Amino acid sequence: MAEKVIGIDLGTTNSCVAIVEDGTPVVIPNRGGYKTTPSMVAMAENGKRLVGHIAKRQAITNAENTVYAAKRLIGRKWGSAAVRSSIETMPYRIVEGPHHDVRIMLRDQVFSIPELSAYILQEMKILTEEYLGEEVEKVVITVPAYFNDGQRQATKDAGLVAGLDVIRIINEPTAAALAYGFGRNIERKVAVFDLGGGTFDVSILEIGNSVFEVIATAGDTFLGGEDFDRRIIDWLVFDFQKEHNIDLRKDKMALQRLKDVAEKAKCELSSVKETEINLPFIISTGRNEALHVQTKLTREKLEELCDDLVERTLGICTQALQDAELDKSELEDVILVGGMTRMPRVQQAVANFFGFEPCKGVHPDEVVALGAAIQGTALTDNSCDVLLLDVTPHSLGIMIVGGYFHKLIEQNSTVPTSESHTFTTVKDFQTSVKILVLQGESDRAEENELLGEFILTGLRRAAKGEVEVDVAFAISADGIVSVTAKDLETGLEQSITVTATSGLTDDELRDMIDANQDHMVDVRSDKEFDKAEHEAQTLLRDIEKMFPDVEQIISGSDFGQDAVTKARTVCDKARAAIESKNLPQLLECIEALGRTSNMFRGVVSKTR
Ligand code: AMP
Repeated sequence: MAEKVIGIDLGTTNSCVAIVEDGTPVVIPNRGGYKTTPSMVAMAENGKRLVGHIAKRQAITNAENTVYAAKRLIGRKWGSAAVRSSIETMPYRIVEGPHHDVRIMLRDQVFSIPELSAYILQEMKILTEEYLGEEVEKVVITVPAYFNDGQRQATKDAGLVAGLDVIRIINEPTAAALAYGFGRNIERKVAVFDLGGGTFDVSILEIGNSVFEVIATAGDTFLGGEDFDRRIIDWLVFDFQKEHNIDLRKDKMALQRLKDVAEKAKCELSSVKETEINLPFIISTGRNEALHVQTKLTREKLEELCDDLVERTLGICTQALQDAELDKSELEDVILVGGMTRMPRVQQAVANFFGFEPCKGVHPDEVVALGAAIQGTALTDNSCDVLLLDVTPHSLGIMIVGGYFHKLIEQNSTVPTSESHTFTTVKDFQTSVKILVLQGESDRAEENELLGEFILTGLRRAAKGEVEVDVAFAISADGIVSVTAKDLETGLEQSITVTATSGLTDDELRDMIDANQDHMVDVRSDKEFDKAEHEAQTLLRDIEKMFPDVEQIISGSDFGQDAVTKARTVCDKARAAIESKNLPQLLECIEALGRTSNMFRGVVSKTR
């Protein structure tokens, strides 16, 4: 039987994990029974790392050390607009990393974004292992279709740090389409409209039985529910400032409370027309007077605050249709994905734009993970008959003389793909050539995303135009780029896998994988301890309940007295092992407690 592959939707707000069981994709619930887990990581005062719901629960009181929406920063460069915006609005400290990358400071420790994402992936891995009762390693992780190479590479690094073997990175809308069409034997063109917590993607696909072919994709990796929340926060902050002349954004705890209440109000307004926003004691004045936020938000007002955000998604849909060279009327279905598509205004805008009601048959929070699990199975199990053909969202090329961008692979080309081009030297006696690898659509190199650079040295000294260098680009099915440059005369070759924007060098990555493996052992022994403690406490309660009866029954005999004393000793030893968190000792005690409990039961039942 093929090894199990898990599918993980590593979301900005929530993450979800799925597997295929007996041919059916299923989502694995977390320990609380929820199908999604908050993508949050926190550092508690005692230095303990908290992930998921536990991190979310303490976010207000530990705002500075609780990370959410880290996906908005993954693979980004220091100084970019997205990073500047996050620095202004996030309660946690965003700092510059050693490679112009972004890091986050929690208490006095600095973490890379792939590392923080790894903690969430690891939680998903552990949940699956607990569910299946066996180890899992292979994973398909989803990313927004519009993620560039740096963001994809950084996500892959996160998987490695989590101890996973990332067999494929796939695009979220494509995964959703896979789950939508899997096993249905349909032939049609569809659009996937995916508005999540942090990103927006739209993909146009052609589904033909079990072949899923992406025709075009477009998106914005900084447009999602976070921006809708931000509009509510800004509105609350503005009114508060007008009334009290105090900027609530300066207080981290107040900011976190505003974020919580804004998101809650936004979600409520998907089912009611009006909601109350109450934040008692949000801040106190210099005169020690407590101030509160108390107001009403209507659905109409929310729609007015966020109207331009919804309009932006529609502009991107127009772009995708143009790129696909299709008219809306040629589409048969629109699949809504991502929590934000629950907002009535979004659903209405999509219906108006495409001219028909979107499909309601898929679960917007689970469909991406389900699709990832299907793709994982398709890649490892020959009997799973699914073929996925995806595209690269951005054009790829290099900078040429004059600061222009020379495209080698056009956006929306099917991946994997490769292309090469021969360039010549531009100066007499030029012996080296620097190659800047870029991704984007602008003619000007500096307006595109720099993926990395490398220098090919040792060229023959010759007049300009005489030496020829062949540059070959390849994009893997993961959307990850590699480049080779070759001096055609000498055959001298250099290749790079472009990793610059992941922000981690190979050595750093290795160190993180090692460090995290230690942590994985910790997490597991913690879990084993919790399980053992639960078992021991159940037995202790059981024995304690029977003690009075047993003592009364057997106290007459020396043997009986001895047994009771021994039982007391075993119970005390177990309590001491729990107290000192001594797992080996506790496991020994459980055996002894089990024997005592059986013996007590025997005594009690015999006399009844
Ligand atoms: P996702 O990334 O798909 O998990 O989507 C998360 C985003 O969806 C967050 O911004 C949530 O606040 C938002 N969301 C979840 N449920 C609703 C709802 N009922 N109405 C509006 N937005 C929602």
